[in-house]
Amino acid sequence: MEIVLSKADLHVHTTASDGTASAREVLAHVAQHTDLRVIAITDHDTIAGAREAQRIANAYGIEVIVGEEVSTRDGHLLALFLEEELPPGRSLSETAAAARAQGALVVAPHPFGYLVRSVGRTGAFGLGLRAERLWVGLVDAVETWNAGLWSSRTNARAARLAAAWGLPAVGGSDAHHLPTLGLGYTLFPGRTPADLRQALLCGRTRAAGALWGVRHSAEAGALIAWRGLSRRQIRAEQICATTRADRAKPVTSTIEPGGPTGAR
Ligand SMILES: [Zn+2]
Ligand SMILES: [Zn+2]
Repeated sequence: MEIVLSKADLHVHTTASDGTASAREVLAHVAQHTDLRVIAITDHDTIAGAREAQRIANAYGIEVIVGEEVSTRDGHLLALFLEEELPPGRSLSETAAAARAQGALVVAPHPFGYLVRSVGRTGAFGLGLRAERLWVGLVDAVETWNAGLWSSRTNARAARLAAAWGLPAVGGSDAHHLPTLGLGYTLFPGRTPADLRQALLCGRTRAAGALWGVRHSAEAGALIAWRGLSRRQIRAEQICATTRADRAKPVTSTIEPGGPTGAR
């Protein structure tokens, strides 16, 4: 019997966190420009974008897994197949336990990435290594291909670790803008999120892809910075408008009849 292999990008950001494309724009791009069958929306500390994507995915012929990239005290952690949002700021073990309690699977994203908070790293800029025994047993899979990393050496290190510990491999683009969608992906037997989940539990996934490269890194960085700037500009204008509105209000005196010296 022929085994059908499908592609899933399991690490995607939208405008619900620091991505630059909405859930709808992500789905439209994936449908038109990639051969991905499944994507996981994994915004930082929110599942709002993932829920929105899952709600409208049917129209695009794509299946969506609700995920979250949680900012734990020990680095980023991907939770896939979530029902409820997980709060940031807890330890890795607390977050992993809370994810599993609702049936989610837990993945270590970019575990050896520098400059981003990663579970395999410690210290300023992630220059130190955290002992494997402190985090490997807490995850169900390792992201062995993250397309957003600057060097494939950190991915190779993650792949060696996953092989040594017998953990399934996961690939994702870590896309923050449309052109990088699908640059990292997970190959799995079957077609659906349920097939993918089963493949992860049985260790039958493969991770592959390319890196963003200098051009996409520069584009994504510029777009994210522009979005931050626009948000600050909008906030500043809102504050300004509120102040102007306050100034325009008629001044009502709080001084009682009899004047300020009219104490009784
Ligand atoms: Zn991350
Ligand atoms: Zn990410």
